Amino acid sequence: MTTAEIVKTSLALDGGAPVRSADDPLPTPRPRIISPEAAGMVREVLDSGFTLDLTSDFETAVAEASGAKYGVAVANCTAAIHSVIGGLGYGPGDEVIVSAISDYGSVAGVVMQGAKAVFADVDVRTGLVTAETIEEVITPRTRAIIAVHFYGLMCDMDPIVELARRHDILVVEDVCQAMLAGYKGRVAGGVGDIGCFSFDAGKLLPTDNGGMAISDDADVIAAIRKFAVDRGADDLGPLGREHNGIGFNYRFGDMESAVGLAQLKILPDQLKRRVELAERFTAKISDIEGVITPRVPEGQVHLHWLYPLQFDLEQFRVDASQMGEALSAEGLNCSPAMYYLIPHSHKFLPDREADVERLVNARTHLERTVRWGFTEKYTERDIDDMATIVAKVTDAYRR
Ligand SMILES: *Cc1c(COP(=O)(O)O)cnc(C)c1O
Repeated sequence: MTTAEIVKTSLALDGGAPVRSADDPLPTPRPRIISPEAAGMVREVLDSGFTLDLTSDFETAVAEASGAKYGVAVANCTAAIHSVIGGLGYGPGDEVIVSAISDYGSVAGVVMQGAKAVFADVDVRTGLVTAETIEEVITPRTRAIIAVHFYGLMCDMDPIVELARRHDILVVEDVCQAMLAGYKGRVAGGVGDIGCFSFDAGKLLPTDNGGMAISDDADVIAAIRKFAVDRGADDLGPLGREHNGIGFNYRFGDMESAVGLAQLKILPDQLKRRVELAERFTAKISDIEGVITPRVPEGQVHLHWLYPLQFDLEQFRVDASQMGEALSAEGLNCSPAMYYLIPHSHKFLPDREADVERLVNARTHLERTVRWGFTEKYTERDIDDMATIVAKVTDAYRR
């Protein structure tokens, strides 16, 4: 199809022919590609009668791959962050800065422990917090910052770590969407003090459900493990256990660890393919008027767990949600992104209306963005069709 023909084609939303019809759909992230070794390794755990400790192996493997010394695997990332906050003893009177754009799991544990979640605004182009936006909300009560590597791109960590050192604040990286993403030769989760992961079925490394906290600091890992796995107890050897603090059983299973170890073997190739495909797509849409492509800073790798497609809305007759409907009708299923503004969608938070007002960049970014789960299963033809869809819809709605 030439551009001239595209302009004349009516949108699928208005009854025209879609670029990709329902009998020739674009691939979706699920069903996930499972490593051929996964089933055999799960079988080994079962055959051992639960005597194989694959969880320790998985902790070591993820920590090493991410550039940290130790890991503690837990039930999911919501539990990992809860255990960081609880294990390190942050609570009433303490403030924890959290990226304004994220998932419930980044904030639940902060609220649960009675600390105050303080939201930092973002860079309007990337949707990520920066040292500048964090500095605006630091107070004498700030104990930690949870920097979220959203969409698959890492926050600019060097200035963030430098700022945190000056204020004696702990840096927690939320790595859920960016496992093995690169930053100036280092790896996501291994740059700050602690990295927290999700191995949910939809995330880059799926084990069905799971999470982890990694760190170079053995004392930090021991404190998290006591809260997350040992149920607040110290092991007294033959005397049993002494429960001297509140803790939970967020233990991660050996069968899931088996899947995780197997998936870890195929992940680097999957990520490489994902990056190639995302770069091809970005290049194809980069000269479409009014489309703002994801910015990948020098020295970083963007994994595009989600592809964020932004529009300069002044150039169009419709909002992002209408764009999303039209793109979906053409076969590129996507959704508006506003859900990810935490104070907007998390109705239990105090001060949420004032926060939504204050977080101007986060709001602007999300109001002009649609996103979808990008997959390494796309072919070149799929990428080209996705670019055609973006061109067709933006042409139809351009002012
Ligand atoms: C998925 C996700 C979480 C929560 O992870 P769970 O394993 O589902 O608890 C937290 N933060 C971000 C950025 C996520 O994408």
